[in-house]
Amino acid sequence: MAFRAVILGAPASGKGTISSRIVKAFGLEHLASGDKLRVNIAQNTPIGKEAKTYIEKGLLVPDDFMVKFIANELKQIRSSTWLLDGFPRTIGQAKALWEVQKLDVVLNLVVPFDVIIDRVKGRWVHLPSGRVYNNNFNAPVVPGKDDVTGEDLVQREDDNPTVVLKRLEQYEKLTRPVVEFYKDKGILNEFEGRTSDEIWPKVKSIISNFLPGQKIGKL
Ligand code: AMP
Repeated sequence: MAFRAVILGAPASGKGTISSRIVKAFGLEHLASGDKLRVNIAQNTPIGKEAKTYIEKGLLVPDDFMVKFIANELKQIRSSTWLLDGFPRTIGQAKALWEVQKLDVVLNLVVPFDVIIDRVKGRWVHLPSGRVYNNNFNAPVVPGKDDVTGEDLVQREDDNPTVVLKRLEQYEKLTRPVVEFYKDKGILNEFEGRTSDEIWPKVKSIISNFLPGQKIGKL
């Protein structure tokens, strides 16, 4: 069975959290563009070095670079059930992806900006897995440590308030047309809410329509 999905949403709208729950419930492969870039930056690869110059300013990495990068990452996924997170972010990326791979569903998380600004202040991530914690409502068991591996958590450099505002502006300007693109294709599903707990049951129910045989536990 094939199921190819994209999750959209402003920075810190809960894409990482909802994606982890989807992966846990439905067992799909998860490819998060930001996580992959951060791993490259941490390892100081040529890709990481170039991407860093944009990321630290809160700018998007150019389309040509991202399309090549993600196409290459997708090739390495053997499964035909996957969830792409953080890509596409521009209409150019959306069209390039559609050329190589049509999608079954697009999930768009709609969270008010005031909630987002508040949220990034307490956000900590585990770089290798992309697991996201928040000191205010989803704290790790041991402060500063990943629950699964016990490894260190870090705060993202681009989560400081000035850079976040810039990222939100970019999101509005560039990603809005992506939402419209998928709406026109008839595959867009929008989910509104102030917390991931509020949004998750609706997402789960939509995906269950596509993967009905999947055994899903209570999360
Ligand atoms: P994220 O973790 O998805 O918020 O991504 C962190 C940063 O990586 C973004 O602010 C961008 O600078 C860069 N990035 C991630 N995905 C993309 C993309 N699809 N297109 C351009 N830049 C991206």
